[in-house]
Amino acid sequence: MVQLGMGMMRLPLLNEDDFKSIDFEQVNKMVDLYMESGFNLFDTAYIYHDGIGELAFRKSVVERYPRESFKISTKLPLFVITEESQLEPIFAEQLENCGVDYFDYYLLHNVSGYTENAWKNVDLYSFIQKKKDEGFIKHIGLSTHGNAEFLEELLFDHPEIEFVLLQINYLDWEDEAIESKKCLDVAKKYNKPVMVMEPYKGGFLADVPKEAEKLMKEHDPDRSVVSWAMRFVANLDVCVVFTGASSFEQLQNNIDEFNNADPLNDDELNLLEEVSEIINSNITVDCTKCRYCVDACSEEINIAKLFDLYNKHKILGRDDWTQQGNAYLNYSKLPDVGIASDCIECEACLEECPQQINIPEVLKDVAKTFETEIYGFEN
Ligand code: SF4
Ligand code: SF4
Repeated sequence: MVQLGMGMMRLPLLNEDDFKSIDFEQVNKMVDLYMESGFNLFDTAYIYHDGIGELAFRKSVVERYPRESFKISTKLPLFVITEESQLEPIFAEQLENCGVDYFDYYLLHNVSGYTENAWKNVDLYSFIQKKKDEGFIKHIGLSTHGNAEFLEELLFDHPEIEFVLLQINYLDWEDEAIESKKCLDVAKKYNKPVMVMEPYKGGFLADVPKEAEKLMKEHDPDRSVVSWAMRFVANLDVCVVFTGASSFEQLQNNIDEFNNADPLNDDELNLLEEVSEIINSNITVDCTKCRYCVDACSEEINIAKLFDLYNKHKILGRDDWTQQGNAYLNYSKLPDVGIASDCIECEACLEECPQQINIPEVLKDVAKTFETEIYGFEN
C-alpha cells in the first residue's frame, strides 16, 4: 500500500529570496491538514532550507504532536563529509535539531559521483549500521540520483541497505541520465522497498507547456495536469511518494490527487509519452530546484531561482516575458546576490548538481536572455 509522504524541502517562505524565512504559521496548518488526512511520514534533511529544515520539522511536528503519532526520515549530508570524525557530531546535531531520540528512516543523502569524497573515503555504511544497532535508527537507506548501473553496484556491495529513495516521475521514466524505470527495476531485483522523490520533477509536471496541457484536457477535462503525474507514481510498486508542497493549497491538491489516483490505462500511458516529448522539446534547463549548487557558489548566485525564471520564460514564451523579466530585475537589485553574468566559471557548482547541468554554460544564456535581450543591461 503506497503512502503519501510530506517532503519538507520546499516549505512556504515569508520572503522568497530568503530560504530560512519559513512561514511557520502556514507550515503548521499544512502539517495539521496532512496528519488529519491520515498520513504520518515526514521527510527532511540536514541541508534543507539552508540548514534549518530539521529545526522546522521539530517546531511544526515534534513540538506539536506525540512522537508515536508520526514517522521521520532524514539524511546524512554527504556533501559536507570528508572525514570520519564528523559523523558522530553531525548525527548528534541532527537528533537535537529534530528533537527526537531516534529516526524511523535514515539515509545516506545523494550517494553519487558528486559525493564520492564522502562515501569513498569514510565508512558511512558501518556508521549508519552502528547507529541502527544502538537503537537511534529504525531503518537505513540511501538516496541517489545515479543511474541504474550505479544503483546496482551500491545494492550489490551493501546488502545492509534496507530501502532506497529514487527520483521517479513520468518524464524521467525513460530518461537516459535519470533512468527512473531501470532504477526501480534494480531496486526490485534486490527486494528493496522504494520511496519516490520528485514525482512532479521540481514542479515541472505541474506547469507543462500549453500544448501538453491541451492534450491532457482533451482526454479528460475534469482532471488537473498534476493528477497525471500523481497517478503515474502512485500506482507503481513503491511504498511512499514524497511531494514537497510549498503552500497549504498545493498540499491540499496533492492529498486530493493522491486519494483519487486511479491507475492509468494504456491510452493514458501513451498520452503521457506524447506529453513527455512535448515537455522535453520545451525544457531548457532540467533543474529541479534542489539548491545543492547554491551553497557552492562564491558569487552568491541563486542558480535555482534564475533557472526557474529562465525555464518559465522559455516555456511560456515572450507573451509572458514581462513577468519573468521583472522578477529577474527585482532579484538583481537585492543586496548580496549575484546575477547570471557574475558567474566566474569556477565550476565549483558542477559537482553539486544531481541533474548534471552545465551550470556556467546555461548561466551565459540566462544572462543573454534577461540582462541583454530584455533589458539591455550589462553587469
Ligand atoms: S561556475 Fe559560476 S555559478 Fe558555478 S559556482 Fe562558480 S561562479 Fe557560481
Ligand atoms: S542547477 Fe542542479 S543543483 Fe542547482 S538547483 Fe538545479 S538541479 Fe539542483
